[in-house]
Amino acid sequence: MTDRILIAGAGPAGLSAAAYLTSRGIPVTLFEAEDALPENLRASTFHPPTLDMLAPFGASKRLIEQGLVAPKFQFRDRANGCLAEFDFSVLANDTEHPFRVQCEQFKLNHLLHAWLLKQGGAKVLFAHAITGVEQDADGVTAIVDTPDSEQRFTGRWLIGAEGANSVVRQALDIPFEGFTWDERFLVVSTPYDFGTAMPDLTLVNYFADPEQWFFLLQVPGLWRAMFPTRQQETEAEIFDPARIEARMQWAHASPQPYECKHTTLYRIHQRVAEQYRKGRAFLAGDAAHINNPLGGMGMNGGVHDAFNLAEKMAAVWHGEGDENLLELYEQQRRPIALEYVNNQTIRNKQNLEAATPEAQVAFRKSLDDALSNEQKTRDYLLRTSMIASLRTAAKVTL
Ligand SMILES: Cc1cc2nc3c(=O)[nH]c(=O)nc-3n(C[C@H](O)[C@H](O)[C@H](O)COP(=O)(O)OP(=O)(O)OC[C@H]3O[C@@H](n4cnc5c(N)ncnc54)[C@H](O)[C@@H]3O)c2cc1C
Repeated sequence: MTDRILIAGAGPAGLSAAAYLTSRGIPVTLFEAEDALPENLRASTFHPPTLDMLAPFGASKRLIEQGLVAPKFQFRDRANGCLAEFDFSVLANDTEHPFRVQCEQFKLNHLLHAWLLKQGGAKVLFAHAITGVEQDADGVTAIVDTPDSEQRFTGRWLIGAEGANSVVRQALDIPFEGFTWDERFLVVSTPYDFGTAMPDLTLVNYFADPEQWFFLLQVPGLWRAMFPTRQQETEAEIFDPARIEARMQWAHASPQPYECKHTTLYRIHQRVAEQYRKGRAFLAGDAAHINNPLGGMGMNGGVHDAFNLAEKMAAVWHGEGDENLLELYEQQRRPIALEYVNNQTIRNKQNLEAATPEAQVAFRKSLDDALSNEQKTRDYLLRTSMIASLRTAAKVTL
């Protein structure tokens, strides 16, 4: 057996794990099903602790250069404008990066891949789709469809980081428990300059509305608006340009029609794998947990998984800890997905869509309370920036 670590999926989680392991001198083979790094538009928000983790690989500096620094974010409604504005500067002693970065997630993938190529060592194999997993006391084997034939690759451990439809998770027969929301989320990207149209806007703005909440986030050159669709709307209706225009005009009345660069529809789930490990195979990122995107916790959480697991694997590999250390990965990370990310993202959705006057008042009061003194604001931002989740996980020991 070649002693190495196998990773399935060149997304943010798989590439982060590969980068950390490579930095510790551990040989890695990473399989990516696509011919090249996919350039989909999903995540756009990098939270402060994620930037702290990515900094040693030069990625945070480059994300800042290629993205937009967002030192503040807002909750708003259409009638009253800004309800609450949160400023990350209160986290100056908690992180090296007291701000969010707004940048497309595929740019991170390119940065980490380029870093890996520069280091040498790691093998990144495109057009290699994992289709099965076998394991025994000596090692784990990934069965992989390659352009030529089916091949078998053996290593010490396997990280399944190939997204929500993880083959590794299915091969290990691990249930993906949770539920799927009835409504799908529509993302519309436009070059329309919301910042000029609404000068007090920040780069990240969540609009509460009982009829149709939405968010407006800026990424370089574009604003992204996200709306829930109604359960009974067909795809033809959702993508009807007149309906998209009506949604955008609802968000902000503009005398000119909106120019739409991209429209994408997502089915949204809240699911967590029943186990994060079976023997020599582990799950990380969307393979292990998926949630709604309100709060930007999916990719960030996946990167946090990747570093947590890769640090433990490196410690065991180099004899700095015994094999039991690997048990701690699931013990530290699964409760975070289950209780913290799941609850926070569901609460974020419920707050924005609050329909009764009582629920709306309660949400607005909670915002006022979070802003009522610096300690409360700091606690709030520690939670929403995911620093609190990492501190909670770190307290779990064997
Ligand atoms: C609209 C929207 C907005 C979002 N915004 C945010 C945000 O702002 N912040 C945030 O933190 N999260 C956000 N998310 C969630 C985020 O996009 C995901 O959590 C993140 O992409 C997960 O990263 P990953 O590496 O686990 O998986 P993925 O990014 O899905 O990467 C998996 C990789 O594995 C490859 N693959 C798949 N199958 C195989 C196979 N069989 N063999 C080999 N390779 C395979 C895929 O091609 C892909 O490259 C958002 C999601 C949506 C839908």
